[in-house]
Amino acid sequence: MSIDSLTALVRTIPDFPKPGIQFRDITTLLADGAGLRELVDHMAAIARPLDPDLIVGVEARGFILAAALAHALGKGFVPVRKAGKLPGCTVGIDYVLEYGADRLELHEGQVPQGARVVLVDDLIATGGTARAAAQLLREQGASVLMALFAVDLPDLGGRQTLEEDGVATASIMA
Ligand code: AMP
Repeated sequence: MSIDSLTALVRTIPDFPKPGIQFRDITTLLADGAGLRELVDHMAAIARPLDPDLIVGVEARGFILAAALAHALGKGFVPVRKAGKLPGCTVGIDYVLEYGADRLELHEGQVPQGARVVLVDDLIATGGTARAAAQLLREQGASVLMALFAVDLPDLGGRQTLEEDGVATASIMA
């Protein structure tokens, strides 16, 4: 399956969750067996040579792809969640959004010092979420080998922001 065919499986829903946002909905791709396999195979081809210790996924759609990638590589999966969702002791990072602030958390000790991790989310827009997640991982002493996304919205400059922070990035679909 070509990248174009894969991209065609992602639908765009206008004005969700608020007016003016073109929401790139990957559930249509996830529901397609060949498409899901192809997407995860592409992600695995990029991540495997990096030989990560762990795959870290960002809530919520990032979990789906990160867990599939972790399985494909035979590595563990660690979730990064919004504040108050993880049951155990957490470490976290507060970050500023265009409107307001948010917080991401990680179970304490789940990313060991020196761990080599690949960070995964479904989509990068401004890069604010992935940037905060990468910073949180670095604060735990991890090495973020790459931030890997299914979809990039290049006009928003997120990948550039991450690269400026020294985080290598890749995406399967632009
Ligand atoms: P950002 O922090 O601006 O890079 O936004 C990335 C996060 O918000 C990811 O977790 C995405 O799932 C979600 N997101 C932002 N914009 C969109 C969009 N247009 N379509 C789908 N998801 C989006």
